[in-house]
Amino acid sequence: MLAAALTASALLPACRLTAGAQVAVRAPRWETIGSSREGRPVRAITSGRGGPRIALIAGIHGDEQEGLRHLDEIVALVRGVPRTVRLIADANPDGTAANTRTTASGVDPNRNWPAGNFRAGPRHGPRPLSEPAVAAVHRDLVDFDPALVIVLHAARSGPFVNFDGPALKLAAAFRDGAGAPWHVRPSMGYSTPGSLGTWAGVDRGTPVLTVEFARGAPREETGPPLLAGLAAILEGPLPEPVPGEFYVR
Ligand SMILES: [Zn+2]
Repeated sequence: MLAAALTASALLPACRLTAGAQVAVRAPRWETIGSSREGRPVRAITSGRGGPRIALIAGIHGDEQEGLRHLDEIVALVRGVPRTVRLIADANPDGTAANTRTTASGVDPNRNWPAGNFRAGPRHGPRPLSEPAVAAVHRDLVDFDPALVIVLHAARSGPFVNFDGPALKLAAAFRDGAGAPWHVRPSMGYSTPGSLGTWAGVDRGTPVLTVEFARGAPREETGPPLLAGLAAILEGPLPEPVPGEFYVR
């Protein structure tokens, strides 16, 4: 039923009848919230209405574009949902252009956040937010002040959903929507100093879902579970997070 509704909403343009004429509802307009080291725009839109507010980052590691390639479908999904969604297209546009994990300066954009456990280094940056695109996304998240952050990645051991902060029930909701073989993995199994999840989830107590597709999976294996998992969170009742209960470091 949900899948059928999603398919229908993805195929049909958003329209309404006005005095017998069909008028397209204006698509949300992308804003440029900053630029990368090589000058590529970092883009975001706000869509939907109502609370709680949810931020969704469709890509951050440039060689993990399994979610980013579904950006148009995500835009279609978030239009009209009963949540205010801040959709950030790509936190690492230089990496995406080069198909590399890191930014143009070789920094992992998921190690460059001002988390308490940030460690300076060639792969982490000399200081938090040294990468312009990461700094732009950070500023945008602080301004938007989401109740939940969702970020899309891919891993060879995927698909699964990892979480930081009080997000266990949210991760389970995504998993239930996405269906098997998706599962909840509470820990990545390695330390992630200076990660978005540590900064937002552990330090600030904002639930973070890290969605990990199976690396290299074909579109037909990534699109339907992504949209169904997101729909379960964006359209269903949001479970109450329990601050402090599910912190994972
Ligand atoms: Zn990743």
